[in-house]
Amino acid sequence: MAETRAAEELERLAEVAAACTACGLAATRTNVVFGDGSASARVMFVGEGPGRNEDLEGVPFVGAAGRLLNQLLSEIGLQRSDTYIANVVKCRPPGNRDPRPDEISACKGYLADQIRLINPAVVMTLGNFATKLLLKEERGITRLRGRAYPWWNRVVIPTFHPAAALRGGPSVLASMQEDFALVRTTLDGKSEAEAEPDSPAQQLELFG
Ligand code: SF4
Repeated sequence: MAETRAAEELERLAEVAAACTACGLAATRTNVVFGDGSASARVMFVGEGPGRNEDLEGVPFVGAAGRLLNQLLSEIGLQRSDTYIANVVKCRPPGNRDPRPDEISACKGYLADQIRLINPAVVMTLGNFATKLLLKEERGITRLRGRAYPWWNRVVIPTFHPAAALRGGPSVLASMQEDFALVRTTLDGKSEAEAEPDSPAQQLELFG
């Protein structure tokens, strides 16, 4: 029942986002890439922003980065459909440039609502932008990855963005495999009950 309500609320939120013009990225997008996956996922991934293929298809993590994500998931016994995948900004920054602070600030409410509704036990941040937004950390992903951080009644596990593994080769991929293994052990050691829904006050503070 709670799952159905979360799925319905996510759908309503996606409809709102589809017409969103709250930042300049609205002018150049083809599609708003809201998110994809299960409303009852125990693990949620947060990337940076849609790339060219994602913008064209309206789905996050398609193409080579998506295939790598699927492979890493299958290595820990999960399928993409078991998870939920979203980005910090829902519209593609032109030319795949970094999202700007004003764009992240305009868009972060959608992500906070997605996390609140899905209520995952583990949030895996993919790359610097998602990690900095959630953990409010100035240290880069290379320093932060490799451990689980308590975060609003759940844990955040940072890792590299799959695109970095595609560019960076075997050592980056090996680090990602370690981090995905940490997701598996965290999920295995965590009961469903441990990820309590955030209180309304906490929800307001999710991203400060
Ligand atoms: Fe709206 Fe986010 Fe797209 Fe900006 S990036 S227009 S805030 S949905």
